[in-house]
Amino acid sequence: YGDFNQKIDYVFKVVLIGDSAVGKSQLLARFARNEFSVDSKATIGVEFQTKTLAIDHKTVKAQIWDTAGQERYRAVTSAYYRGAVGAMLVYDMTKRQSFDHMARWLEELRGHADKNIVIMLIGNKCDLGSLRAVPTEDAQEFAQRENLFFMETSALESTNVETAFFTVLTEIYRIIS
Ligand code: GDP
Ligand code: MG
Repeated sequence: YGDFNQKIDYVFKVVLIGDSAVGKSQLLARFARNEFSVDSKATIGVEFQTKTLAIDHKTVKAQIWDTAGQERYRAVTSAYYRGAVGAMLVYDMTKRQSFDHMARWLEELRGHADKNIVIMLIGNKCDLGSLRAVPTEDAQEFAQRENLFFMETSALESTNVETAFFTVLTEIYRIIS
């Protein structure tokens, strides 16, 4: 009911991509509903959630799309990327392989999405610091080379989740306004 009669100035589609189990669905749950569940089930069917927020006195509706267990390479369809103005490229900082796969996720994203798309590289699960398998510097270097924003987050502890989404949405706003 919060949205009732609210004038929406912009709708921004943002897609979540990255390997299975890196925490995409929990990042979305944390951002959209401030929830986290330890035993999250794999999502079935393409789904998105929305969150309405104010940027520069405008009302922006963020429409965040979550892959639905299609995380195998090339299984995400072009419909998923269509119209996206932002992307969260998520790896699990305790799983080196999920970071090594970022390059091909990025390639696939760039092959499908608008060339002005705003991209944030996210190293999730930073609450598991003692299990870290990806040094911050490696990710920073990749992000710098590929011209991506970068943040380490924890959906579990809420660290940097709002900031990451807000940074992307604000940058999208800056580009289109
Ligand atoms: P997805 O397949 O990328 O959507 O990953 P999920 O969001 O389903 O999360 C996969 C598993 O990682 C689940 O057991 C989550 O509870 C767990 N998880 C997600 N985010 C975090 C986090 O920030 N910290 C920790 N410790 N676990 C997380
Ligand atoms: Mg999921």
